[in-house]
Amino acid sequence: MANGSYNPYENAQAQFDRVANILGLDDATKSLLRQPMKEYHFTIPVKMDDGSTKVFNGYRIQHNDARGPAKGGIRFHPQETVDTIRALSMWMTWKCAVVDIPLGGGKGGIICDPRNLTENEQERLCRGWVRKLAKDVGPFSDVPAPDVMTNGKHMLWMLDEFEQIHGGRYPGFITGKPVGMGGSLGRTEATGYGLIYTVREALKNLGMKIENTSASIQGFGNVAQYAAKLYTELGGTVVAVSCWDNTDKKAYTFAKKSGLDIAALFSMTDSFGSIDKDKARDMGIEILPEGAWLEQEVDILMPSALENQITLENVDKISKQVLLIAEGANGPINTDADEKLRKNGMFVIPDFLANAGGVTCSYFEQVQSNMNYYWEKEEVLHKLDYQMTTSFKAVKETADKNKLYMRDAAYVISINRVAQAVKMRGWV
Ligand code: NAD
Repeated sequence: MANGSYNPYENAQAQFDRVANILGLDDATKSLLRQPMKEYHFTIPVKMDDGSTKVFNGYRIQHNDARGPAKGGIRFHPQETVDTIRALSMWMTWKCAVVDIPLGGGKGGIICDPRNLTENEQERLCRGWVRKLAKDVGPFSDVPAPDVMTNGKHMLWMLDEFEQIHGGRYPGFITGKPVGMGGSLGRTEATGYGLIYTVREALKNLGMKIENTSASIQGFGNVAQYAAKLYTELGGTVVAVSCWDNTDKKAYTFAKKSGLDIAALFSMTDSFGSIDKDKARDMGIEILPEGAWLEQEVDILMPSALENQITLENVDKISKQVLLIAEGANGPINTDADEKLRKNGMFVIPDFLANAGGVTCSYFEQVQSNMNYYWEKEEVLHKLDYQMTTSFKAVKETADKNKLYMRDAAYVISINRVAQAVKMRGWV
């Protein structure tokens, strides 16, 4: 979400401009790639359960589809902004390109708070979003997926509406569907696990054994939960996670120096990724202020909640012990803080590489849906590990060879791939 003076779209464009200049990209390609190619802004009137009608604002933004159909999630959030969606759609293009899957970048959203909507109201909202876009999205043009505060249930309502309108079955229209209804095994775990595959590779580069490391994670939703699960299964110690408390309207950090029991935390977390404070206290977990996750003396930080979380105001609070920041969320470090971390030589695994496991598995889901043949979970996770590990190694090699910051190296690979695609298609 954009807040105060922070604008994620300006952040995304600044990151792009920096590398476009390093690459000496021509003006036409630069102009084409630094903004979305298509935007849809619309209203969605929804009949509420009390008989009233409420009008919501919905969006779909397609940044680029030169390498394949646009791909990206749909976010439900009260503070969602058009510029956030623009930035996220742009990052999706780079994300699909860096892991070399044949998809472009898109993103959508509805300004709403699903925590205050009934199931029936959420269903009508999902169907309303599809009705406004049914001709502009689809398996061969733009493939949506879940994002913050949306899940498989929402995707299935959206798929059903799409199929009602077009007549027939089009399971490749949307990903993140429930398993057994066109979803892929492993999709729930994919983003968090993918994050840890890249952390595992980075630790090898740093000459560290995962079982001797500790981490602090911002967030405890889909990405953070599965990152914490795999990281601890591989022997790492999670000393803190944080999450939003919707009753108190603020976030808290949940910490335990000897290591949090992730399975126990799962059992006291609701479907929005909020942990029950009372149950946590009973388990001897310390409840600390929102920002405490960042100040922990750990080896690894994994910001995995929202954008714009590490800024000039708090970047100096990061402990000297931290050697690696793996961006589970999209855009968690703002431009100024990133500049500082770059100068300090911090090892950062950039968002569009670190959290690409989700879209990679979404791509696997689309392939399986289109074939109507589904793989075992082991096969999905094996393919995911291979794709994430190969992509990480390619970015690291580019960074080492050209003495680049990891973020810039990832951009070099992605921008080159997309620029080549638009040129080959004769667009510029
Ligand atoms: P989610 O809704 O499942 O979880 C979000 C978590 O962040 C929750 O635990 C929530 O309590 C917490 N949170 C919200 N505000 C907070 C704050 N101010 N401080 C601390 N915690 C806060 O969302 P998710 O799917 O886990 O996505 C998290 C991030 O990862 C987003 O930036 C999203 O765009 C990105 N991402 C998600 C996926 C995916 O497959 N889910 C893929 C790629 C990127």
